[in-house]
Amino acid sequence: MDTNVRLEIRRSMQSAVLIVSGLAGKRFPIDISVSQSSLQIQSADDSEEFLLPQEVKLAPSTCRYVQHVSGEGLHMRLKVLSVGSAVTTTALKDLLNTEEKFTFYCQSCGSVVLQQQQFLRVLPLPSENWSSLVEEWCCHPDPFANRSCLPKVNDCFLGDTFLLVNKANISDPPRDTNEMSSVPHCGDANASKSKENTKVVCKRCKAILGETVSSDAVKYYITEVMIQPSFQAYQMISRKQFVERIIVRLLMELSASRSTFRFCVQGQDGKLFLLLWLLNVDTVLVELIKSGGVGSCFFPGSTSSDSESTPEVQNVARLLYMPCINDSNKKLVDKWMNETGAHSLTFPSGTCLELILLLSLNNTALPHSLRFMNEWKVAYLKI
Ligand SMILES: [Zn+2]
Repeated sequence: MDTNVRLEIRRSMQSAVLIVSGLAGKRFPIDISVSQSSLQIQSADDSEEFLLPQEVKLAPSTCRYVQHVSGEGLHMRLKVLSVGSAVTTTALKDLLNTEEKFTFYCQSCGSVVLQQQQFLRVLPLPSENWSSLVEEWCCHPDPFANRSCLPKVNDCFLGDTFLLVNKANISDPPRDTNEMSSVPHCGDANASKSKENTKVVCKRCKAILGETVSSDAVKYYITEVMIQPSFQAYQMISRKQFVERIIVRLLMELSASRSTFRFCVQGQDGKLFLLLWLLNVDTVLVELIKSGGVGSCFFPGSTSSDSESTPEVQNVARLLYMPCINDSNKKLVDKWMNETGAHSLTFPSGTCLELILLLSLNNTALPHSLRFMNEWKVAYLKI
């Protein structure tokens, strides 16, 4: 069994947890020494050295807590002296507000949905609780009731998980259907009454991209379309990576702008799929590279396992999740929906399942002692 080293750092607290596993096959005595930039493991018959990335420096003298966890190895807690700089993400609204032309692609197959479009107005839509807030604050009837928030030509309106654009801007607009009798209003743009024939599908691969919301407005889910400045060549990226990137950006945006950390993820039909609880976005996973050998990777599918690679620092969002398929955990779900002010996020049902799969794969790749927090499962998403 190979020695495996996992180093997790909390940037804001400058603290680290180091887990050394795979020591069982070695001949005792084993001597482990930690220096600022490396870790040495010396056993009776061999010696290994693991190197840290240049920007990460440990403070070995602060090691105060060493524990042996059965089946896993040694856990150590210590402080870090430096960990490199944090990454920032650009909000979709800020990205679209730049004076660039954008192209929307079907994320599944790369087919162009909307070409070389420069939006004149990029505006956030009111939140789902907006109309009830207005009612509470106004001493007269809601002046905005029954007024629709639909995009005109060259407008792009942003909901939490979708964009509304005018059909005139779309490369190959979906045909009108007779079902589009009523025009939805701000409050129910997110509603669950989506009908089969309002679905907008990719002409090439038939992936569901969104739905038509009126005779001239189309809603695209941010998890289904790839939005890129038109001057960039189409960037091929795996579905899993894309979903991870979009979800992390969304959770970071909402937690920063609305101080919301609890989320209920539901399908277009209103069916609840999972609860998400964002714990922090300042966790850093550090890959250690065995000198003259290969590194230890924390992420399934990570590409940095060849001997030429240099150690890497990965900023991650740490979150708890709980799948709620088949009405499981009903009591907790009710509490979350009604008492904690959890924020609802709506995606196509297939994407909700993809998200559960992504989180589950991530969870099972963790050392066993890190997988659970009470009844919640733990996952790390790359920022
Ligand atoms: Zn497609």
